[in-house]
Amino acid sequence: MDDVTNTELWERCLSLASEMMDETAFRSWLEKSSFEEQEGSRLLIRFPNSFVAGHARVRYGDMMEKILRDVSGRPDLGLNFVGSPAGPGPVSRPSPTPGRSHEGPRADYLRPSYTFERFVAGPNNQLAYAGALAVTKEGGASSYNPLFLYGGVGLGKTHLIQAIAHRIRLQPDVRTYRYLSAELFLQQYIAALERSEIPLFRNRYLDVDFLLMDDIQFLKGKERTQEEFFHRFNEFYLNGKQIVITSDRPPHELEDVEERLVSRFQSGLVADIKPPEYETRLAILHLLVRDERIVVGDDVLDFIARSVRKNVRQLAGVIHRLAANSRLNGADIDMDLAQKEISSSLGSISKRLTAGSIASLVSQSFGVTPNQLKGKQRKREVLIPRQVAMFLIREFTSLSLNEIGSFFSGRDHSTVLNSITRIELLSSDDPTLERKIADIRRELVSI
Ligand code: ADP
Ligand code: MG
Repeated sequence: MDDVTNTELWERCLSLASEMMDETAFRSWLEKSSFEEQEGSRLLIRFPNSFVAGHARVRYGDMMEKILRDVSGRPDLGLNFVGSPAGPGPVSRPSPTPGRSHEGPRADYLRPSYTFERFVAGPNNQLAYAGALAVTKEGGASSYNPLFLYGGVGLGKTHLIQAIAHRIRLQPDVRTYRYLSAELFLQQYIAALERSEIPLFRNRYLDVDFLLMDDIQFLKGKERTQEEFFHRFNEFYLNGKQIVITSDRPPHELEDVEERLVSRFQSGLVADIKPPEYETRLAILHLLVRDERIVVGDDVLDFIARSVRKNVRQLAGVIHRLAANSRLNGADIDMDLAQKEISSSLGSISKRLTAGSIASLVSQSFGVTPNQLKGKQRKREVLIPRQVAMFLIREFTSLSLNEIGSFFSGRDHSTVLNSITRIELLSSDDPTLERKIADIRRELVSI
């Protein structure tokens, strides 16, 4: 196997692992690893430092070897996890870009599969897709500057923004990009402050034609970093360079982000990505199935497309697990297997969310105590949160109206039903309440 295939092979293993693991754990321990070279039957995997490599080996080594053997079909393959080289060693690797010496090796990590070619355009993401494609085409800055892409979790924001990076990377003209998450921007800015290296930090943005920043909502409440970002933004903008930003919400809903930044964000093209419709979900499933080189009947794909509606990442997760499962057990992917897989993956969401956990998030968010929420007071400040909690418990759990009523100190099902209807009405009239509920919902799905 040559290095390109091994790099891809490792990316595939990572993508499978990311479906199986808790997202934070994946990000902390595995995401920043990369294939480096093959030594006999062992793949050398490079991590940012030896601490991460050591922990990853102990905690995830066996699992990753299992996945590797499964994906490659080669039971003889093994893994060596190593940290960043302390000095010159037997290992050859590209020398790091100047000015980046303090970062891990994958600060601008691009997933090889997040390209335009592997992105299914549909009515749900039409404008975002067209905008992303357009900025890579026009010479330099486009009329879509900045391009602001927003949408819920797992709907393809990172995929699209990375597709822009891939496209620029592969184009013959030498345009450069800097892709990073707002979280990394923050970390690097803080590190630069601590080391008094702000000029060096700023230099990294001087010769870049495209600034691609993922998950800008992360800058919420980080005033100094916002200030710094504002200046980098203006420099880019005034020099006619392209800026692309992703966010989990539209600019005007970014809380604790300075007004002047918000209005900058609104000055270009703002495009949203919605959950895909049935046809787009099916097209994505076809793509995934082709990639996995598995055979799945149309009835099974139809069933999956109807069952998983809100999140493309979940859709991909189902296919990856079905593929792994069928390779492991040599079983055909039939309706039976698909049904089991879906009920266990959807079940895991509802298992984590209970009436208690939802009520406690709602009470936090409205600044009342859980006891007030369950109690008898009918003051508006308590009544609304109580009704919101009932509304969300109904949405996120399979509890009946009666069961919800008894959670709220023995209220009956008609009270619960009235509350839910009332919140539906109220929130369609009141954007602040609607936004608040949307925020809680976002937090609930990420628990
Ligand atoms: P987000 O950043 O919005 O949370 P991601 O970009 O990480 O979501 O997408 C989640 C997963 O879904 C990725 O594996 C991505 O490749 C896939 N995905 C999302 N939208 C599409 C699409 N339209 N076509 C193909 N794959 C998609
Ligand atoms: Mg993302």
